[in-house]
Amino acid sequence: MMNEIRPRVTLVGAGPGDPELITLKGVLALNKADVVLYDALIDRALLNHAPDKAIKVFVGKRHGSRQHPQEDTNKQCVYYAQKYGHVVRLKGGDPFVFGRGAEELDYIQQFGIATDVVPGISSTVAVPASAGIPVTKRGVSESYWVITGTTSSGALSDDLKLASRSKATVVLLMGTRKLDEIVGVYEDEGLSDKAIAIIERGTTREERVVAGTITNIQKKARESKIGAPAIIIIGEVVKESPQLKAIFEELVCDHKMIS
Ligand code: SAH
Repeated sequence: MMNEIRPRVTLVGAGPGDPELITLKGVLALNKADVVLYDALIDRALLNHAPDKAIKVFVGKRHGSRQHPQEDTNKQCVYYAQKYGHVVRLKGGDPFVFGRGAEELDYIQQFGIATDVVPGISSTVAVPASAGIPVTKRGVSESYWVITGTTSSGALSDDLKLASRSKATVVLLMGTRKLDEIVGVYEDEGLSDKAIAIIERGTTREERVVAGTITNIQKKARESKIGAPAIIIIGEVVKESPQLKAIFEELVCDHKMIS
């Protein structure tokens, strides 16, 4: 006897990279998936939480290529849900932090398909933490600001100017290609001594970290060829990292450090 197909989509935050940093609720959703649609930044080990017979589909965009445009992903979610039942849409970090999660839900809901969201540990806090950087610390930083380096028009967000004038820790996503512009914003404010770190593939085995000041970070980034996916974190909290302290004290560096 055929089971009736009940289409539903669960948007699951996969966490920042380390496959152990998904939530228990996320794992339980995967356990019950008929189909998993996953992004480029997802560790394939997470797919082992889905049943063997579940269909696994890669829908990621690699380095901004138009290989899998967003519209296709939306359509695939609907197609697979209607055909097979429970779709788990696995997205990096938290689905609602620059992940287009809300847009995907809007689209899917138009078809009367039931949806659910499982939050994830966002790279915005977990990646700095992996490099020993607390986004807030009593007496050092009382707020943090998460900003995109690449808005829908491709430009660096204007919010960076405002943030740079505040005492907030600034966490920039999708910003490595805009490093010169970012440095320019801080230089214009006379903040060349501000501490800054770039963390590539944070929480994974390939994690690399470069840290310095606004003045020397471009050179360090160039020399190390550090690049996407990476998070840029700017503020005095960078100096609070036990791993990075040495750089600011010009002492010996940790083995993970490349400069
Ligand atoms: N929803 C995600 C962010 C999606 S935007 C979240 O909450 O984490 C994708 C950007 O996030 C990347 O370009 C990069 O800037 C950042 N990012 C995600 N995972 C990362 C990681 N492990 N290390 C460094 N940066 C990461």
